[in-house]
Amino acid sequence: MNSNEEIGSMTPDELSLYITEIGEKPFRAKQLFSWIHARQVSSYHEMTNLPQKLRDYLAEEKPLHVPEAVRVVESERGDTKKYLFRLFDGNVIESVWMKHRHGNSVCISSQVGCNMGCRFCASTLDGCVRNLTAYEMLSQVYTIAHMTGERISNIDVMGSGEPLDNYDNLLRFLHLAGAEQGMNLSQRNVTVSTCGIVPKIRALADEHLQITLAISLHASNDEKRQKLMPVAKRWSIEELLDACRYYFDQTGRRISFEYALIAGENDTEQCAEELAELLHGMNCHVNLIPVNPIRERNYRRSGRAAVAEFDKKLEKYGINVTIRREMGADIDGACGQLRRNYLTRSIEHEGLFCD
Ligand code: SAH
Repeated sequence: MNSNEEIGSMTPDELSLYITEIGEKPFRAKQLFSWIHARQVSSYHEMTNLPQKLRDYLAEEKPLHVPEAVRVVESERGDTKKYLFRLFDGNVIESVWMKHRHGNSVCISSQVGCNMGCRFCASTLDGCVRNLTAYEMLSQVYTIAHMTGERISNIDVMGSGEPLDNYDNLLRFLHLAGAEQGMNLSQRNVTVSTCGIVPKIRALADEHLQITLAISLHASNDEKRQKLMPVAKRWSIEELLDACRYYFDQTGRRISFEYALIAGENDTEQCAEELAELLHGMNCHVNLIPVNPIRERNYRRSGRAAVAEFDKKLEKYGINVTIRREMGADIDGACGQLRRNYLTRSIEHEGLFCD
């Protein structure tokens, strides 16, 4: 389905056009937009200030495909919840809600599966089935806000999928999330994470958005990166970093680099030095994430001491660095643990349950 044909993915202007095309008054478009994106209802039935006839017509012509939460799993600490959503065509995706001191964030999926093939990531094991529409991305947030009853202050497009491989829908999603008449979320509160599709990073830079761009770097030289991430065979680290510098020049936004530490693979002192050299002089931030092991590969996470050493080394070179606080690991909600096969299988075998 194309995003621009789906009512929840239409911009205010597209919605106005559609509404007048079907012979309705333009103000109905504003009402509709507000129901869908500000009040975030899940059916036309709830849109009580629209005439019944129009509601019936829309329900027939433009069904609202709100993902159905089929399962919710809460972490022991209660600060993370994983949601399994079934889409209208039966595909299953996952989103993660996290409670932080500064507010609540939701990590959303941008595709069913992923085509990028990163060796350490579970989301890509079965390839990409399809892109999510803008509304399918938004409604993960809407439904979670509704179910938790809490305000969502941040969105991370960091779940399964490569957002820049679904570029048009991603842009539509970003515009809608920031729409004043909708969720009205500041772009600064949105992070988009990419494995590094260079031409799309440059295209995104030209949009001059204020979102945070996170780059999954994970290695300090091309040889190592190519072993971990097929995308590195297409573009070198130098090309990637050039695009990042361009992004910063165009937007003034500091880049965030993600670096999953894998024991013996990319966590040595030499790696830290190489990485520091690469990023020297760049206005950036490095996020160190001890890798979350997946059962298909025998990558092990770096030990506590190695992580601390790596962190110290980067700091010594004046690089801004943090060690990512672990959330949701006990519910397979941590980075790289979202997997499609597992999702579908567990639903088939264990049945659906949701409050
Ligand atoms: N495709 C995008 C977004 C999805 S992955 C991207 O590559 O950035 C979100 C983040 O989780 C990325 O930084 C990714 O590299 C990281 N990740 C994937 N598998 C992981 C694992 N097993 N352990 C830790 N981080 C992982």
